[in-house]
Amino acid sequence: MNRVALCLFVILGLNFFTLPAQAQPDIVEEHWYHSYATLTVQVNDWADNYPEFVQLVSAGQTELGRQQWVVQISDWSINSSNLSQAKTMVYIDGGHHGNEHLGTELAFLVAEYYIEGAAAGDATILEVLKTTEIHVMIMLNADGNDFDTRWNVNQIDLNRNYDHMWTEEETRSGRGGPFSEAETRNNADYMNEYMKDADLYVTMHTGTWILAYPWGWTGDMPSDWELFTHIADTIHETIDDSLPIRNANAGIYPTHGTSRDYGYGVMGFPTFTFETDDEQWLLGTVEPLSERMALELDVMKYLIENAKLWRAHLSTEQLQIENNVLTSQIANKGHASTMNATLVASNSNGEIVWESASFSVNATNSTSVRFNVPANATSKDIRWSFEYQVRVVEVSRYVTESISSDTLKIIEQKEDNFLIGYGVFNVVTTTLTIVAVAVFVRDNVDDIDSTTQEMTCEN
Ligand SMILES: [Zn+2]
Repeated sequence: MNRVALCLFVILGLNFFTLPAQAQPDIVEEHWYHSYATLTVQVNDWADNYPEFVQLVSAGQTELGRQQWVVQISDWSINSSNLSQAKTMVYIDGGHHGNEHLGTELAFLVAEYYIEGAAAGDATILEVLKTTEIHVMIMLNADGNDFDTRWNVNQIDLNRNYDHMWTEEETRSGRGGPFSEAETRNNADYMNEYMKDADLYVTMHTGTWILAYPWGWTGDMPSDWELFTHIADTIHETIDDSLPIRNANAGIYPTHGTSRDYGYGVMGFPTFTFETDDEQWLLGTVEPLSERMALELDVMKYLIENAKLWRAHLSTEQLQIENNVLTSQIANKGHASTMNATLVASNSNGEIVWESASFSVNATNSTSVRFNVPANATSKDIRWSFEYQVRVVEVSRYVTESISSDTLKIIEQKEDNFLIGYGVFNVVTTTLTIVAVAVFVRDNVDDIDSTTQEMTCEN
């Protein structure tokens, strides 16, 4: 037992071996890191005591059969049908590496902050939970946590085992391929089942002190570099200017097959690795956890409470159609750019009658568009919507968002005397042409192809 742990053992006067039998009281929780047993009691207590805010599910079992608990936190009295749009989805996991206890504890602290804050009636937290779901898998590698080891029971580095740029050249990256381990497969399955629309994913570790964004596998900046640099600048300006925030490849070291790169490169989430400290293996902390991790918790609150902005958000005040020409100023209120937005016109049966060429709108910017639209898309009954990818990264999800009919302004085509005169002239010439062609057809029945062509030409 190391010195700090021994110290705690004496200070708290507790029998370490009987601790797992019950949830940790606050004084213990502040100093003694969770085991699988104490965590299991705690997450079940939350679900039992606060069902209005907490749902507890297991994402599956570890190689040794321990549950990968996920605490789902939101105001469950409100679902997306009560809201004008779906809730913002946030995903967090801790404890890929069983010996990195402070990473696990930060995931725990975030869950505790929102659950106990909501239960205590904190107005800001209650407001956040009305429109946000926070899903936290606090301890992904419970087997490794019990053994106080980096690896899982098969001696695999789980954070090299994801199916994104996986390579056997990384140390202990998997038995023959990516997702060889139950823990990583379960995590990816959970993301695919519950978190497809997530606008934030943070995975928590220790080893150094950094908030790292993609990529790990290459030194290139991620496609959504504007989003990540905006977040870094804002944290430095408003929370703390000393926390290193940069891409993982340069900020930590090159890595392949990580959950962070999988989350961004396969799922399309904005992702971060939060390396909370350089401490590993210790079982407790002399300084209370909530004080030691106060800055990290502030950063997490900022990331979670602004997550709805970590994507493109298109809107327009007016769609104007005049003489079959549509013009609009389209704003992007989000902090991510979109590269392939279109305007879509649908009839009252929901059938698409026209779709514009694609256009891009930069983050927190706007774009003027001008399109020729066909006559069948100019009626007042047409419903308009945006279709676009919410981020630049290739795998980012598409959304279809309707545009309020209040924004539609159709300027009727004015028919002056010249136009009416022209119309009459047109009818006369068309009739003459049809008569002429009919005569031509009658006289040239053997040459029907050229006749058809002639008709096409004339019309
Ligand atoms: Zn780690």
